[in-house]
Amino acid sequence: MAPENAAKFGKPPLQVLLCSPRGFCAGVVRAIDCVERALKLYGPPVYVRHEIVHNRYVVEGLKAKGAIFVEDLDEIPDTDAPVIFSAHGVAKAVPEAAARRNLFTLDATCPLVTKVHREAEIHHRRGREIVLIGHAGHPEVVGTIGQLPNGAVCLVQTLADAQKFTPRDPDKLAYVTQTTLSLDDTAEIVALLKERFPAIVGPHKEDICYATTNRQEAVKRVAPRVDAMIVVGAPNSSNSQRLKEVAERAGCPHAALVQRAEDIDWRAFGAIRRLGITAGASAPEVLVEEIFDAFAQRYAVTVETVTAADEDVFFPLPRALRENAAAGELSS
Ligand code: SF4
Repeated sequence: MAPENAAKFGKPPLQVLLCSPRGFCAGVVRAIDCVERALKLYGPPVYVRHEIVHNRYVVEGLKAKGAIFVEDLDEIPDTDAPVIFSAHGVAKAVPEAAARRNLFTLDATCPLVTKVHREAEIHHRRGREIVLIGHAGHPEVVGTIGQLPNGAVCLVQTLADAQKFTPRDPDKLAYVTQTTLSLDDTAEIVALLKERFPAIVGPHKEDICYATTNRQEAVKRVAPRVDAMIVVGAPNSSNSQRLKEVAERAGCPHAALVQRAEDIDWRAFGAIRRLGITAGASAPEVLVEEIFDAFAQRYAVTVETVTAADEDVFFPLPRALRENAAAGELSS
């Protein structure tokens, strides 16, 4: 409905600033494609250890196609069906346990998480103690710590942790980070570590991934211009939580993390004139559209897209899926 018609029917005007980029990143696309391709090639069931990406809508959609989600390999019976590891990565003990049971595994770990695993291994081989900047309990952090023996990695979550941290040897120290952290918080923690331990070794380029960086940058541009911001994403999605925090710190008076339109608390959005919308890296665009439509039913909406970066990153599927898919295509 055109704004003038909407106004005629009593809808208040609302300018929506759409953050770009938003939503799915290359690692999430690859992980979901892994499950879908495996279902197509091998037929259901396909087992997936942990939510393939942190989004209920995506998980429910894959369940309906025959994916079975488990938190632990022990929940999987002896089977020839594929077992897929989620985009967040897993501790080394997980593929080892799967190999002992002869399970057929496919690894949907994002290549940018795998890159952090390799960095940590190299530091360890060079005799360095490793500081991992990240959030306790997040599956990516569990997976990164689990690349190395107990005690090789020390988790630092906050500036206070960085202040308290006592290394075994300050001259043999390195840091890596979770890929989905707040850029600004992490920069502060890294600066403090470098000040306290000048010999600490870090990544050549940030471990925080391109998708996290670009989505936060777009939110920073939009947040000071709007009365409220919707972040489409799940509460257990680290990068979505960070987008909400970034919006608040960049001057947005009200930021809400919302999974579906039905979750919107309309009382909090009553008198707004400008709304920012973004989506975490695991949130599909269809949910952004659903939420946009819910606002368009209540307001006379005009739209502006605010672009912080263009993305063309693509990660190929694991080799087994590529080769088997190619063989299937040739024989069909
Ligand atoms: S948010 Fe970054 S690290 Fe995580 S899956 Fe996406 S591209 Fe990979």
